[in-house]
Amino acid sequence: MRKALFVLLSLLLAGFSGGEDLWQKAERIVKEAVIIDAHEDVPTTLLKEDVSARRERGHFDLPRAFSGGLTAPCFAIFTPHSYDRDHPMEFALRELAAVYNFVNSHGDRVMLAYSWKDILRAKREGKLAVVVTMENSSPVEEPSHLPMWRHLGLRMAILTHMKSNKYADSATDRERWGGLSPQGKEMVRAMNRLGILVDVSHLSDKAAEQAIEISELPPVASHSCVRALNPIERNIPDHLIKAIGARGGVIGVNFFPVYLSPRVYARWKEIYAEFLKRVKEEGRERAIKFLREQMKELPRVGVKDVVRHIRYISDLVGIDHVGLGTDFEGISITPEGLEGVDKIKNLVYEMLREGFSEGDIKKVLGENFLRVFRRADEVYRRNYPEAGK
Ligand SMILES: [Zn+2]
Repeated sequence: MRKALFVLLSLLLAGFSGGEDLWQKAERIVKEAVIIDAHEDVPTTLLKEDVSARRERGHFDLPRAFSGGLTAPCFAIFTPHSYDRDHPMEFALRELAAVYNFVNSHGDRVMLAYSWKDILRAKREGKLAVVVTMENSSPVEEPSHLPMWRHLGLRMAILTHMKSNKYADSATDRERWGGLSPQGKEMVRAMNRLGILVDVSHLSDKAAEQAIEISELPPVASHSCVRALNPIERNIPDHLIKAIGARGGVIGVNFFPVYLSPRVYARWKEIYAEFLKRVKEEGRERAIKFLREQMKELPRVGVKDVVRHIRYISDLVGIDHVGLGTDFEGISITPEGLEGVDKIKNLVYEMLREGFSEGDIKKVLGENFLRVFRRADEVYRRNYPEAGK
């Protein structure tokens, strides 16, 4: 009798633990996991808008970040190329000031992450840990300024953006240096010494190859999709995914439908050509209205499309080298089901549905990027044992 009761009890308990359905499991994972988003353009938004209350526009605000379980968004200090020769440092510092003001205004809930340990502390204390990163490094006027930027919080940087600049060729512009400029190479070396991660998203293939080659730290591509799945220059080719993987780095998958899907890209290219024509004929304002309308009509992209890119990288180099770099606040459209930072749960659900293990999902959500931030901190401590933050 006692034995029968024991068996019955065991069965019941097994039933309870196994009774967690995939949605419940996804919710639990999102609560437990350290979630790092390697690229968000929130600083640009902060110059114009308050993100502390729920907004109808955009992809990020504090209520959505907390309800979505986000731990550490990487806030990219983004400087448009139009400032490259016109005091880019001033522009970048204004954005950084906006980030500091945002963090200070919400000190009970938000903190700056100066190290990987701060990310873990934020998770423990239920806070959001903002990591300062940079997109287009023109504001760093020369490599000798990097220690200052490190002290200001900078932990990861992309040398350029959509155009080639004094440091590197861009994937979306004419070749100027055949990869990195001599000063660009010096930047990469200095970033390595200082534990600032070298981010090759947006770089031309040659520039990325050279940056990875020089890099002692694990290289990263913070927000890049897979070129083999959508053959455009901005996406990352297999040989670079392999090179990043071989060095222990991480590729954060971008959520922009134009990068995710060849169908969307093909249509977008047509619309964009028409937009440029209309700028000349009708003026910028009307052309932008046209562009906005047309963007709504693009083919639909969903959560599955993001998972396809995650799976591809994982199959090619292993799950330890995939992460998330949503590009939120920097993209005009999103996949359905991933409209903002509150929707990561949907991605987790889809990954569970497609057979990813809980452990692997947690790696993609943040553990992989946490590993490279940790490595960068260790290298900095080794090189500058007396330095503070
Ligand atoms: Zn970008």
